[in-house]
Amino acid sequence: TLTDATPETSAALEVLHRVFGYDSFRGEQQQIIEHVAGGGDALVLMPTGGGKSLCYQIPALVRRGTGVVVSPLIALMQDQVDALTALGVRAGFLNSTQGIDERRTVEQLFLAGELDLLYLAPERLRTEGTQRLLDQGEVSLFAIDEAHCVAQWGHDFRPDYLALSMLHERWPAVPRIALTATATPATHAEIATRLGLEDARHFVASFDRPNIQYRIAGKNNPLKQLLDLIRTEHEGDAGVVYCLSRSSVEKTAAFLAEHGIDAVGYHAGMDAATRAANQSRFLREEGVVVVATIAFGMGIDKPDVRFVAHLDLPKSLEGYYQETGRAGRDGEPATAWLAYGLQDVVQQRKMIEGSEGSDAHRRSLTAHLDAMLALCETVDCRRVRLLAYFGQESGPCGNCDTCLTPAESWDGTVAAQKLLSTVWRLARERRQKFGAGQIIDILQGKKTAKVIQFDHDQLSVFGVGADLGTAEWRGVVRQLLALGLLAVEGEYGTLVLTEASGEVLGGRRTVLLRKEKAPAGGQARKES
Ligand code: ADP
Ligand code: ZN
Repeated sequence: TLTDATPETSAALEVLHRVFGYDSFRGEQQQIIEHVAGGGDALVLMPTGGGKSLCYQIPALVRRGTGVVVSPLIALMQDQVDALTALGVRAGFLNSTQGIDERRTVEQLFLAGELDLLYLAPERLRTEGTQRLLDQGEVSLFAIDEAHCVAQWGHDFRPDYLALSMLHERWPAVPRIALTATATPATHAEIATRLGLEDARHFVASFDRPNIQYRIAGKNNPLKQLLDLIRTEHEGDAGVVYCLSRSSVEKTAAFLAEHGIDAVGYHAGMDAATRAANQSRFLREEGVVVVATIAFGMGIDKPDVRFVAHLDLPKSLEGYYQETGRAGRDGEPATAWLAYGLQDVVQQRKMIEGSEGSDAHRRSLTAHLDAMLALCETVDCRRVRLLAYFGQESGPCGNCDTCLTPAESWDGTVAAQKLLSTVWRLARERRQKFGAGQIIDILQGKKTAKVIQFDHDQLSVFGVGADLGTAEWRGVVRQLLALGLLAVEGEYGTLVLTEASGEVLGGRRTVLLRKEKAPAGGQARKES
């Protein structure tokens, strides 16, 4: 209301209208902007697309001096500066991609007080030269973008961010605003501690994206499933399809194109010109589907992406949330669809087992994967699960697959015991380890060539699981892997018991499993 308008409010609103051409603030933008414009420190947790940029851009325009923005996204600085320049904002950047002359020009503009915003790579800010430069000019605020990069066990950790704790010591009078879209309670606390923002005002936005429908489907023939999704629900829509590897990006883009979908690929191995052309088609034209590795999307701002599909399992809920968050930024209905199967669990467990680095690092990767798997295997509302991970409580949403078609669960204790004892017997009696395929053949009593070759039809467990189909057994293996009641080992992903397996084998633990849904269209289940 007009009565509690402060000078900061009217100045901020004026800039919002005149410079950015928007009518009103969104969410907590106004409170954040007033607080920082008034000289306060802030820690802002806001989901992707929530409008974080204005939270530091407007205070920088309202305050005297230059707002210094620390960002790890060097590749985007040029675009950000171009976009601001087009709005009449005086912006520049300093990073390693520039030549000495270009750098000098920006430095001179800064010293002359002719920059509203200066983007800096964190490694630049660490240098004594840059710090002296900032001393000689006038800094209105420090904005630390992608602040979760300071979290040491996070998926985006940048050692250079640790040095940012010196900002407050060296420039105690300059307000700081740290912003991130990654906000588990643990990350939140770590950002506050490492950046010395305990006394800052914390602004935590809701992470719910109610217009996004979350769906996680059993993977049987992922390319065909994806094509069905596009044809039945998203014909002519813009979308993003994420794949883990460059080769699957190429394969998937080619497959979609062959079937008449306007699809282009995007990954770091492509030549820069093709990549830029594909990105620009996606941004400027309507109804283009981009098939990409997760390299795609940081900072991409396209409001009308109608679906985000994952053909491979993301490594963490942070990643999943950020990638799916690129759908439906305009607030209109959008779909987040993930195809998930046994092979995903085997592959990711194997990757972690074989990864370089400390045990602590491996434990952290495992914890992130386990949270992702718990979302995939839940029989409860996906959104409730997802938001709970980010520390936010909510009720069943009515707009996710488990709300729309409730998943059934069944007592899988006996099935789990049969499976685990087969793994145990092979190890114990034969000193052998096998992958899921052979174990399931043994359980079902199938006399395949490989079963005969190893005399596995002589095992006492041969055929004890003939009551379940292959899809069900794969579901049991997948969920036991997800629950940590079974593990994979080595190059071939052979199955081995874990400490917790003993509790199931000893009858001390029951196992509640999610029932496998019949795949849409009723085609034979075949995982590829
Ligand atoms: P984030 O950095 O949180 O992902 P951005 O700052 O890139 O989000 O903003 C997302 C989109 O929303 C941008 O297109 C931005 O211009 C737009 N936006 C932000 N604030 C407003 C507002 N108050 N009114 C209208 N559009 C806004
Ligand atoms: Zn739900």
